[in-house]
Amino acid sequence: MTRKFSLLILPGDGIGPEIMAEARRVIDWLGTNRGLDFTIYEDLVGGAAYDAYGVALSDDALARAKQVDAVLLGAVGGPKWAGVEYDKRPEAGLLTLRKELELFANLRPAICFEALVEASSLKPELVSGLDIMFVRELTGGVYFGEPRGIETLPDGSRRGVNSQVYTTPEIHRIAHVAFDLAGKRNGQVTSSDKANVMESGLLWREEVTKIAEQYPDITLDHMLADSCAMQLVRAPKQFDVIVTDNLFGDLLSDVAAMLTGSLGMLPSAALGVRGGGAMYEPVHGSAPDIAGQGIANPIATILSLAMALRYSFDCADEADLIEDAVRSVLAGGLRTADIMQPGKARVSTTVMGDSILRALDHLNTH
Ligand code: NAD
Repeated sequence: MTRKFSLLILPGDGIGPEIMAEARRVIDWLGTNRGLDFTIYEDLVGGAAYDAYGVALSDDALARAKQVDAVLLGAVGGPKWAGVEYDKRPEAGLLTLRKELELFANLRPAICFEALVEASSLKPELVSGLDIMFVRELTGGVYFGEPRGIETLPDGSRRGVNSQVYTTPEIHRIAHVAFDLAGKRNGQVTSSDKANVMESGLLWREEVTKIAEQYPDITLDHMLADSCAMQLVRAPKQFDVIVTDNLFGDLLSDVAAMLTGSLGMLPSAALGVRGGGAMYEPVHGSAPDIAGQGIANPIATILSLAMALRYSFDCADEADLIEDAVRSVLAGGLRTADIMQPGKARVSTTVMGDSILRALDHLNTH
């Protein structure tokens, strides 16, 4: 049976087009070898869109993003656009997509590939087999709360204000995402907050606990965010799914990311309401320092495609296949420059892509 999906590809800036070219080859492979029928659209985002249209995301691209099953984005930004007006800067393209598609749930897996345990800042036994899923609330909390701003006080000193604000519907919908995911994983959710010192944290804790009642098979525990930071570097394998707010999620997921070695390996997803929009992108940026050299690691983008297959297209077998192919290429000793280790073979972006396609061929027929 042919499975039909639509995908908007936004390669973006810097290494974006280089890494996306490799993801595209994997998409073509899925079409030829697994009967997946993708309708692909491609457009510009970030600095590339600014250069062409004068905005970081055109209306056409936004309309397309709303209409497709999922968006796959490379990266945006770079020194070339440092002087561009604030609302037209490359990052504005990303923020527009998140806002307009109502992408409130940021999923960031922290998986440590066996071949890369030595690249972690922690001892191999602490990270070997690590597989945490971060669920970060992305559209609320202190980054968006009102009042906000900087004011000058009568005595001439200045006061900066940001407000941590969460409503029950915002907490409920992110909690549902976490519990649903835990149901497909190891059945354990850790909710992280600062209920000891913040009312918004207390509300978060109470409301997540209420939602847990609808998931009798899932274990829920609560952990203060500072304690969670410590536990992540002390014994990270104790976690399955961690759900947390926008601010703590920003920090804690970066801590977890470093446990796994390299930025070039980390995929992410931003999901909206069920049946709504979804965007998949590597965690890393546009890496202007290495752009155009053909040495960028395409794995984070290819793993982002695997997440799209798992969470938007309901193709878990193909997602597994891609992750297994990446695992086997790394086990075979191939490394892009960013994850290079002594005794391994250093390869270019394209050769890494070639090798993943070969591994897919092999795994698909064995
Ligand atoms: P970066 O993630 O682009 O790069 C950090 C370091 O990691 C660099 O040395 C880079 O060469 C390396 N690196 C990153 N991805 C790599 C890959 N796939 N393969 C090999 N090496 C890789 O972060 P930065 O340098 O702080 O930011 C550069 C630009 O990217 C800025 O304009 C920033 O605003 C933007 N940015 C965009 C996003 C996004 O599009 N989601 C995220 C972060 C930063």
